[in-house]
Amino acid sequence: MIPFHSVLPELAVREVRCLHLGDTPHSHSLPGLPPDKYAYVEFYCAEPDCDCRRVALQVVGRSQPAKALATISYGWENEAFYRKQMPSAPEDARGVIRGELEPMLEQSEFAEEFLKLFQNVVLDEPYRLRLRRHYRLFKAELARRAERGTV
Ligand SMILES: [Zn+2]
Repeated sequence: MIPFHSVLPELAVREVRCLHLGDTPHSHSLPGLPPDKYAYVEFYCAEPDCDCRRVALQVVGRSQPAKALATISYGWENEAFYRKQMPSAPEDARGVIRGELEPMLEQSEFAEEFLKLFQNVVLDEPYRLRLRRHYRLFKAELARRAERGTV
């Protein structure tokens, strides 16, 4: 997995999903989460022959950008698509389409809260389509570079 912004930096800056948590009336506030500006930073799989159709979202706060507060794995296709992808554990497909914390990657004591925020606030239909579009653009750009021999 490599960061979306390392491949398409301008698009990534324009379209990264940010969440302001604070105490102003128009911002979301959840108990236990420090006020900050948080970004859901996208990572996609760079394997040329893989079509996994998933994103890993690393949640980082502006006040400590080097620390991943949560790492969420999510897939935008329907459940049947991921069931087929995981014949040995088809029941796991449900977690993929809802979003889940990635057990092998960095988490924090706030990870569960950021997962809930993802499921209840961040993830809507436009965002689902945006991730799907980013994945396609990401794969297309890597394929173009491989063709030109610049990777
Ligand atoms: Zn993949």
